Formats: sequence, structure tokens, C-alpha cells
Amino acid sequence: MKLKAAKNIGIIAKHIVLPSSTNEIELLGILSHLNLDPHVHGVIVQMPLDCVNSINSNLITDSVFPNKDVDGLNSRNQGKVAVGDLATGFLPCTPSGCLELVKRSGTKIEGSHTVVIGRSRIVGTPVSELFKWHNATVTTCHSKTKNLDEVVANADILVVAIGQPNLIKGEWIKKGAVVIDCGITSIPDATRKSGSRLVGDVDFEQARKRASWITPVPGGVGPMTVVMLMKNIVLAAVKAARTL
Ligand code: NAP
Repeated sequence: MKLKAAKNIGIIAKHIVLPSSTNEIELLGILSHLNLDPHVHGVIVQMPLDCVNSINSNLITDSVFPNKDVDGLNSRNQGKVAVGDLATGFLPCTPSGCLELVKRSGTKIEGSHTVVIGRSRIVGTPVSELFKWHNATVTTCHSKTKNLDEVVANADILVVAIGQPNLIKGEWIKKGAVVIDCGITSIPDATRKSGSRLVGDVDFEQARKRASWITPVPGGVGPMTVVMLMKNIVLAAVKAARTL
């Protein structure tokens, strides 16, 4: 989908497929090459790494030059988001897609109680930071949070990124809340030709009866993530052109 979106808007995208036997040194070498190539404006390393060797994924994301880090996963870009500098780096794609979806719904973020379930480096943590800097009062939940249903019941805006299919029940959701479901899990489904289907972390059919806005899975956060990646690549190219 990323390659297709890039092609549609005239970005030259190259998918470098490495063998699963690639080791950390080899991957760092390839990144170093891409970092130094002036024709390359953005680099992403598709996670999770499908590799037989042990590779430190944080080291990898930190090895992409911050000015080419269009996934927004480098610690420098993440640090900027954490301290409220949302302008000079790159915003991580899935979190900024969640924010954009809520903004486009017309929902007022400032002053809202936003509940984020999940605190991963890729989704949960930056979502919490982004909503905090848009003046929401944010509660971040994780696997050790007690009485999750009660916390969810107080959310004006609910963002879920846990990877636990249908864990969030429709009846927990406050009437009129905005619900953003980042989860994508493939579950067995004998009625499908493929034998499986994708589901989110929220029980969509029940939750849609209470939410004012809710994202479907698939077709909600996923496509927005791709759009935000394209936006970051254009931004990276503009920044590079300005430094010529
Ligand atoms: P992750 O790294 O596995 O993190 C999961 C988070 O959920 C952790 O913070 C974990 O808490 C928390 N959690 C797990 N079980 C929980 C429970 N029962 N109650 C409350 N919190 C719980 O996953 P991730 O990378 O953030 O991804 C989350 C989901 O989003 C996955 O389904 C993934 O496929 C999807 N995703 C979608 C996109 C997209 O483009 N649409 C992009 C990225 C990810 P602890 O910290 O305590 O372990």
C-alpha cells in the first residue's frame, strides 16, 4: 500500500528486500549508504524485522538520519514530540494519522479527556504525547492498568493500540465518544475464502452503537498511516531542497 500510494503521487519508492539471514552490521551498512545518498529523501525500515538473527530494532531506527526519518521513529524525532516540538522533526505516522482523524471529525481535542490504551514506542506513547500537546487531558493505559472498563467509560476520545482482538467492549464506551482503533489482528474465520479476517482491538459492532465516530478495521487507521507517511516524505524532500 505504501509503494502504491507513493507511485500514485509521483514519489519514486524503492523496496529493498533483504534476505532473512541479514545481520545487524549488514543492515547498518545499508542504512549508512542510504543516509549518505543525496537522491534519497526518506528511509523507513519495515518493523517488525523478519530476520533469523537478533537485531536491535531501536538501534536500527536510531541509525536512520533524523532528517530522513519519515517514519518518525528516531529517538531525536520522538524526543521532539515528547517535549511539544511538533514542527521541526517528523511526526510518527500512525499517531499523527489518529490525530488527523479526530481533527477531521470536528471533535474538540482541547479540554477533552483522551484515553490511550497501549504505550508502545511506535503507537501508544507518541499518541499520548500528541494529544497532550493538543491540550487534551490524557490517561495512558497498559497491561497493568486496573479497571480498564471504568477508565474507558470516562473517555471523550479513545485511542486503542494493543493488538488484542475485540478486547474493548462496546458497552464500556461513553455515549458520543470518538473511538480510534489502531489494532490489526488476523483471526480464523471459516466463512472466508482465505480462512481468516482482520479485526481491531474494539468490538466494532457494539461500539458503533455508542460512539459518535469510530474507525473500522480494516480501512481506518491503516490507510491514514500511509497518507501520513507520504506527507512526511514530501516534507523531507522540501527540507532537503531548502538546504541545497
Ligand atoms: P505492542 O508494541 O505489542 O504494544 C502493545 C501495548 O498494549 C503495550 O503497551 C501493552 O502494555 C498494551 N496492552 C497489551 N495488552 C493489554 C491489555 N489487555 N490491556 C491494556 N493494555 C494492553 O503493539 P503496537 O506496536 O503498539 O501495536 C498495537 C496494535 O496496533 C497491533 O495490533 C498492531 O498491529 C497495530 N498497529 C497498526 C498500525 C497501522 O498502521 N494501522 C501501525 C502500528 C501498529 P505493556 O506496555 O504493559 O506491555
